[in-house]
Amino acid sequence: MTESFPMIVCPVCLTLNQPQSDELSSSDACNHCNSPLFNTQLLTLTSANFNAHARISDVPLLIEFWSSEYHSMLPLGPAFAAAAGQLEPKFRLGRLDIEEESAIAAEFEIQSIPTFLIIRHGREMSRRTGAMLTRNIVEWSLSTLSV
Ligand SMILES: [Zn+2]
Repeated sequence: MTESFPMIVCPVCLTLNQPQSDELSSSDACNHCNSPLFNTQLLTLTSANFNAHARISDVPLLIEFWSSEYHSMLPLGPAFAAAAGQLEPKFRLGRLDIEEESAIAAEFEIQSIPTFLIIRHGREMSRRTGAMLTRNIVEWSLSTLSV
């Protein structure tokens, strides 16, 4: 077996972890801070943690681009948060505020919200715009793994 196990970025301290098995488990903990490597919580993506999760980690990053200005009038839907419980550990899920992190939004040419983007090793794998149901998010995300 020549394939190495995936490198996983800790959601808390950003340490790069290499589990001893390719069977990722939700109970795997960070070898630096001992936090669970997956906790079904959405990341808050900022310029401080974006590169680690979007470019360094071997785990695809599924991002919901949203706007704090727009959503001050509307609550964020639960569909994306619910998807985390179904997609981890195949994916890492996070939200990025296009007002707070406008440089990243510009880099990926986000034109409307919500926009969903899957990134791995800095490369865009797929994107969707417009609200989606949890099952649609899950089906779409899993379909990108099989191409
Ligand atoms: Zn950690």
